[in-house]
Amino acid sequence: MKQLPDRVDAVVIGAGLAGLAAAREIKKRNRSVIVLEAQDGVGGRVRTDKVDGYVLDRGFQVLLTAYPELKNQIDMRALDLKMFSSGALVMRDGKPSVVTDPFREPRRAAATVVAPVGSLSDKMRIAALRWRVMHRDATRILNSPDISTVVALRSFGFSSKMIDRFFRPLFGGIQLDPDLRTSRRMFEIIFKSLSEGQSALPAKGMSAIPEQMAKNFGAENIFLGRRATKIEPGFVDVADTRIGTNAVVVATDQPTASELLNTREIASRVVGCVYFSADTPPTKEKFVVLDGTGQGPVLNAAVLSNVAPSYAPAGKHLIVAALPGIITGDLETMSRDHLRTWWGPQVDGWRHLKTYRITHAGPEQLPPFNPKQKVSLGNGLFVCGDHRDTGSIQGALYSGRRCGEAVAASLV
Ligand SMILES: Cc1cc2nc3c(=O)[nH]c(=O)nc-3n(C[C@H](O)[C@H](O)[C@H](O)COP(=O)(O)OP(=O)(O)OC[C@H]3O[C@@H](n4cnc5c(N)ncnc54)[C@H](O)[C@@H]3O)c2cc1C
Repeated sequence: MKQLPDRVDAVVIGAGLAGLAAAREIKKRNRSVIVLEAQDGVGGRVRTDKVDGYVLDRGFQVLLTAYPELKNQIDMRALDLKMFSSGALVMRDGKPSVVTDPFREPRRAAATVVAPVGSLSDKMRIAALRWRVMHRDATRILNSPDISTVVALRSFGFSSKMIDRFFRPLFGGIQLDPDLRTSRRMFEIIFKSLSEGQSALPAKGMSAIPEQMAKNFGAENIFLGRRATKIEPGFVDVADTRIGTNAVVVATDQPTASELLNTREIASRVVGCVYFSADTPPTKEKFVVLDGTGQGPVLNAAVLSNVAPSYAPAGKHLIVAALPGIITGDLETMSRDHLRTWWGPQVDGWRHLKTYRITHAGPEQLPPFNPKQKVSLGNGLFVCGDHRDTGSIQGALYSGRRCGEAVAASLV
């Protein structure tokens, strides 16, 4: 095991996106900084496993290319991004309906208009909402009055059919909140990101994002398998080793941060995720596939190898099923039973690859939701992570950068 230093300007605890972003900012200003990571690899919640030649992200996740922080921190070209089709395939009674953004997929606009997913007025309301979020900047959205997503959708005039068949599986799936209790502010931010950019997967898996950040920061200053056990202003303990420092940066997930800092814990959103392999894909589309009943247990799924062929060995296909809110029970059987209602008996021939049960996928973001929480706690203690901003890749990167800048300013 690499030897830990006795003293550095800053110690960052956690090599997720926020910790790596913070460390990069501190290093940029010529301060000595190390990153401690409890796990055996970087990335935190953005990690990827290789299983029998399949690329399995730890939970179904996508990169929204419109996230503003990406251009500040990530070399997007190097990720070799593979794009989902914009819109979704809604499954109901075993039948697929395409719902696309007519501005981006004019070819399929007519199919969207006749899709049995909400009325024509619902579809016109979607266009109006799209226009609204695209013409408001994020600050204005985040300062508007806050209510839950479901109440906001009703007040926009959407029918229950549209909410259950489209918004619940799509946004309940993205926000891991099937009840749509999440803040309207967050819903509009995500809707804006979906409207302004694309959903993508790096060819080598989502872990390519933190791996790129770690490589640029320098692996020699990242200590894997080293869990911080105690912090105080001025030092961090890793088991029986004490590291002296001017700045302690807690860049862990929210439950661990609240334990280390003795602050209030925010409830976690949970999600189950099941991967299958198939010889023949159940659809050739590159859409996210939504549960048009809105009842789950699978709220959304995708044939990932249609989007990124590198996710499966040649001649094979990779299917992911996401079960937001569900982490107990036989998730494989639940997924097969549900997907059989979409795609019939072929589902029984699929090989189960792996099931993930994620107990902390993100912090709850109930209204009134106020991101951009302070990152400096005084006495040389700092905190960052998605729980200080929005529960997303964007939020983690942004909070990490803000935190790194605050640390660097405190060290001059
Ligand atoms: C299944 C799933 C799907 C998602 N889908 C999307 C999506 O599609 N789009 C999107 O934008 N976001 C998505 N997210 C959310 C996004 O991944 C997170 O918001 C973001 O990665 C959080 O980064 P972070 O750095 O704040 O925290 P984390 O990634 O949790 O990093 C914290 C790190 O701290 C380490 N750590 C904890 N305790 C200690 C300790 N005591 N000592 C040392 N190290 C410690 C942990 O091991 C971890 O590596 C998803 C998340 C999940 C789980």
